[in-house]
Amino acid sequence: MEIHKSISAPGFPVGYTCGVSVADVGFWLFWLLGLLFLGTCLAVTWWGLFGDRARGRRRCPRCWYDLSFSSGRTCPECGHTANTERSLFRNRRRLTAAMLAALAAALGVAWTIEQNRQRGWMSMVPTRVIILGLPLVGDENLLTRELLSRAQRRKLTDSQWRMLVGRCVRGDWRAPPVTPIWQRKYGPLLDQGQSSAPGELGGMLLGLPAWVNLQSDRSWPAGAPVCLDLTLRHWWWPATTACRVRLTPKAPPDAETIVVNRHGGWETRPFPLVIETPPGTAPFASPAGFDVVVERRGPAAGAAWEPVQRHTFDVAIEIEGSLKKTIQSVTEERLDQAVRAAFSQGVVKWESGQEPLRVRFDVNETRIAEFEGIAIGARVEIMHDDTLARRLDLWWMAGVGEPTDRGIGWRVEYEDDALLPEANDTDGRWRMVVRGDPGLAVRAGAASGYWAGQFTVPLRVRKSNRPEAPPKDWWIEAADVGSRLSALGSQQENTADASSPADG
Ligand SMILES: [Zn+2]
Repeated sequence: MEIHKSISAPGFPVGYTCGVSVADVGFWLFWLLGLLFLGTCLAVTWWGLFGDRARGRRRCPRCWYDLSFSSGRTCPECGHTANTERSLFRNRRRLTAAMLAALAAALGVAWTIEQNRQRGWMSMVPTRVIILGLPLVGDENLLTRELLSRAQRRKLTDSQWRMLVGRCVRGDWRAPPVTPIWQRKYGPLLDQGQSSAPGELGGMLLGLPAWVNLQSDRSWPAGAPVCLDLTLRHWWWPATTACRVRLTPKAPPDAETIVVNRHGGWETRPFPLVIETPPGTAPFASPAGFDVVVERRGPAAGAAWEPVQRHTFDVAIEIEGSLKKTIQSVTEERLDQAVRAAFSQGVVKWESGQEPLRVRFDVNETRIAEFEGIAIGARVEIMHDDTLARRLDLWWMAGVGEPTDRGIGWRVEYEDDALLPEANDTDGRWRMVVRGDPGLAVRAGAASGYWAGQFTVPLRVRKSNRPEAPPKDWWIEAADVGSRLSALGSQQENTADASSPADG
């Protein structure tokens, strides 16, 4: 939509069928010419109907010659003789002109209505007016949808993009930048902007902070490790920007700092931050305090991590009941079979990349109505003879009811980077051990029972047809790399492979 381009277009676009739309003509020009046109039509119609009333004048009804000063009903001009005296006082109407003008106005209005029917009435509003209106609306609104549609059709000029990105960066009074409501309201526009807006606008987005949150959204039974949800969102930064957080528990004072890396991307599950209670100690103090530093690194070679934000979280942790009373063990042949089926695809292996061996699992195998209320908490260990090569904790809800996301989560607890590339299913030395665990099962959500089975199967290895493992959403860097080289933890990750719904 550029007005200077549309000057050469025919004045008023008649008929959308020729492919001319309001957006093509330019909103201001459309309204200006449209109103001018409609006004002219209505004026002509009015003039045709009421423009020349008799107002008490005697006129010849054929040639409208003024007979005020003539006596009789015969016109001296054209010779017409009126039948009655009353017919000399008729209003003069130009019906053809009035009808044509009314028809033109009706066509113009009909065309406008047709435009609205096709594109919505918002399509008649100028882009800048819509951007100005954004602060007035909620997070689900027509304005955003219309702007997105225009952006996708590449109808925004560079200066309109500048205005829009500026609005997104400032947010508004009810959606201040980077709050969840701001993410919902302005996120889709910024996301579109990242592919369509002129490149130099990216710098404006780096001025926004990342969104960090650490919380516990439920109570935990005594005896189960508490699992907090760490959320880190920064998708408004350019995709080449790396981000991580350093988490330091406030107590005890010598607590280890962990560094959680977050792969870029639109949305991921929160990182499961597990707080282990050392044996023999009292349950940790609530609220549990954490110092959190967000660090950022640009794409340039050799760029250093740079702290950009500092937060303190005091997470209230509610301990309620005991593990034994909260969740009952379920040992049932059918459930056992379903869990075995869920892990029947073994592991998938890549030539290179982060964590190039991942366990495949398919929660659909346990989507069976009779398992409603049962949580699967599984510790999966990949063993090479008697040596542990990888330990993965997984949890999800069996059954078919709410929540639809089935509370799926996972965490790599241990990994031997040197050993794992050797994994195979040919030398007979590798196996997979899967064990039900109530402490993991409670992470999936409110369940009354958990799978309490256990099985060991020979390791099944499938080679991925892609060379490199997809990047992980989350991974932990050991703070002290020297002492914990192989004990790197994890993550939440995207589907590792198209054929497997999830993988850890
Ligand atoms: Zn006459």
